[in-house]
Amino acid sequence: MAATVLNGRALAREMREDLSLRVAAYVAQHHHTPTLGVIHVYGDRSAERYVRNLQVSCNRVGMNFKYYLLHHTATQRELENAIHTFSSDINVDGVLIQMPLPAKYDSAAAVFQLDHRKDIDGLHPINVGLLNQNKPSLVPNTPAGGMLILDRYGIELAGRDAVVIGRSAVVGGPMSTMLLNAEATVEICHRATRNLADKVRRADIVVTAAGKIGLVTGDMLKPGATVIDFGINVRPDNTMCGDVDYASAVEVAGAITPVPGGTGPVTTMVLLNNVLKAAMVTHVDSDNDMDQC
Ligand code: NAD
Repeated sequence: MAATVLNGRALAREMREDLSLRVAAYVAQHHHTPTLGVIHVYGDRSAERYVRNLQVSCNRVGMNFKYYLLHHTATQRELENAIHTFSSDINVDGVLIQMPLPAKYDSAAAVFQLDHRKDIDGLHPINVGLLNQNKPSLVPNTPAGGMLILDRYGIELAGRDAVVIGRSAVVGGPMSTMLLNAEATVEICHRATRNLADKVRRADIVVTAAGKIGLVTGDMLKPGATVIDFGINVRPDNTMCGDVDYASAVEVAGAITPVPGGTGPVTTMVLLNNVLKAAMVTHVDSDNDMDQC
C-alpha cells in the first residue's frame, strides 16, 4: 500500500492562519508589530529570491520586515556591526543572518555577536546548549518543522529507532537532538558512515538531510517506516527533488514527505513563529519564558 503523504503545504497554511491571529492579538495588546531583521551579504540569486519571499511571508502574517544588505566586499567587522545594529534595535525582535555566508567570513564568530534572544535560527551557542539540555529555546527552523510534521500526523517517536543522515548545525545535528529529546533512539549518519543501507533498513524513522539525489531508495527502507526528507536538490532538467527516491520509497514507507511540498513550506512558518516568540521575550516582559509561545 502506498504511504501516507505528509503534506507540509497544508500544515504551513494552518500555521499561517494561526500565526496571523496571534500576531494581531499581540499587536492589539502591546502596540508593537513583531519585526524580522534580515542581514544578507549579497551573493547568489536564489538567496535574494528567498529573502524576498520571506518579506512577503512576514507581511502576510502582519509582521514588519527590515533588511540590511551588505556588499560582498564587506569586512567581518562590517558584518558584525550590522549584527550589532539589529541586536540593539528595540524595534527588531528576531534577526536572521542569511546563511551560508561567503567562505571568507567566520560564521560562528558572526553568530556569536548576535543577542541570543533574537537568534531565530537557533544557532547561537546558548540556544544550541539549551536545546541539548532539552530546555525551552529558539530552535533551528528546518528540524523544528520536521518535528511539527511528525506531531501533526501523530507519528509516535518514544522508543522508536531513528536514523538521521546528515549532521550539520542547521538541519541534521539539531534534528537528531530533537528526536532524542522526544525519546527516540537515534543513530546519526554522515558522509563517512559505512553500510548506510543496513542502518536505514533497521529504522522506524528515516530522516535525510544530505543534499544528495537518490541517497535513499525504497529497497533500503523497512516496510512502514516514516521518511522525512529535508534534501533540496535540483535535477539537470531544473526540477526539484529531495534525497529520497520518492517513486520507490512511497511504495514501501508508511508515511513520507514529498519534495517539494514537504518540509520546505513549514520551515518558513517556524521561522516566523520564532520572531513572535522572540518578541514575547524581548519586548513584553523579561520574566516571560520561551515556553509560553
Ligand atoms: P551540509 O552540506 O551542511 O550537510 C550535509 C550533511 O550530509 C553532512 O553532515 C554530510 O556528512 C552528510 N552527507 C553528505 N553526503 C552524504 C552521503 N553520501 N551519505 C551520508 N551522509 C552524507 O547541508 P545542510 O545545510 O545540512 O543541508 C542538507 C540538505 O537540506 C540540503 O539539501 C539543503 O538544501 C537542505 N535544506 C533544506 C531545508 C528545508 O527547509 N527543507 C532547509 C535547509 C537546508
